[in-house]
Amino acid sequence: MSTNTLTIPTQRVAQSRISELDFNNMEFGKTFADHMLVADYKDGAWQTPQILPYGDMTLSPATSALHYGQAIFEGMKAYRNNANGDILLFRPLDNFRRFNISAARMCMPELPEDLFMQGMEQLLRLDADWVPPVPGSALYLRPFMFATDAFIGVRPSNTYRFIIFSCPVGAYYNKPIKAAIEPEFARAAEGGTGFAKTAGNYGAALMPSRNMQERGFQQLIWTDAREHKYIEEAGTMNVMFVIDGKLVTPAVSSTILNGVTRNSVLTVARDMGYPVEERKVAVDEVIEAHKAGKLQEAFGVGTAATVAQILTIHYNGTDYELPPVEEREISNRIAVELEKIRTGQLPDTHGWIYKIAR
Ligand SMILES: *Cc1c(COP(=O)(O)O)cnc(C)c1O
Repeated sequence: MSTNTLTIPTQRVAQSRISELDFNNMEFGKTFADHMLVADYKDGAWQTPQILPYGDMTLSPATSALHYGQAIFEGMKAYRNNANGDILLFRPLDNFRRFNISAARMCMPELPEDLFMQGMEQLLRLDADWVPPVPGSALYLRPFMFATDAFIGVRPSNTYRFIIFSCPVGAYYNKPIKAAIEPEFARAAEGGTGFAKTAGNYGAALMPSRNMQERGFQQLIWTDAREHKYIEEAGTMNVMFVIDGKLVTPAVSSTILNGVTRNSVLTVARDMGYPVEERKVAVDEVIEAHKAGKLQEAFGVGTAATVAQILTIHYNGTDYELPPVEEREISNRIAVELEKIRTGQLPDTHGWIYKIAR
């Protein structure tokens, strides 16, 4: 919780749209809360931010982000503690730090911590009613920044816009997925932008992902760009395996995004006493483990789903079926524990919770 040094000029909506919202029936990413925070960067400095009604903006067709891709984002959730109504953010400072890591890689200005944190806090206080009371649901926050120079010469933009808006999201429908190991395309290469949360990484991943979906696999498992021998991530999530009782995941690198959920899952696993290994994970190791009956669990981890169970791994023409989700002790225990920490049902022993002052 912070003291409010920065009071952000606010233009409230004339009429809230919240009565149109059905908290039990929300589609991800389509409904937006009443307000947004907007701050512009120009003349080498961040200008006074504003909170405005959520709405359209006008942009020059020459807006540099649209042509050359200087665009970064974050994704995080605010939860309601249903015991006392508190609104809790989960590890927002980790998202803030990663935002500036992405900014540096994309040659964009860093954002001051108070603009990110107090902007988020004041926006949340204003739109507090949009944080759903339904268990499993949350208010998803989308901070992002893009280059705004109306100039199509290739150089870093001199002006940028930072925005935070939010969307109420329902309980993630956790149907176990069929995933395929990608033998040809790559999400990220060494020296590239894989560790940054930048728009282009997502654009470049769409075609390979759609190809796999057309073959019946909801998710693809990325492999390294050089040899396609080592596992990197699962779609837009980090990926983990339980092999012979050990939680194994690829170590973060320049090609793997340093997920907040990944770190939280590993921390809780260590707290619970499970052995954890962060290292290179070869495709062959996973397939051999399956053949030996030692591949007990596989799942993606990220803010959207927390844990997305993988039921089938397709590789080289073969479907490898994994044990049923109900039998997966480690991922199931950790998912429940994390949900309780985020909603204030368990003590916050790691300093992960940031409570929004009322
Ligand atoms: C955002 C993201 C993740 C998950 O990160 P979280 O902080 O856990 O939400 C994993 N991989 C990629 C490529 C991502 O963009």
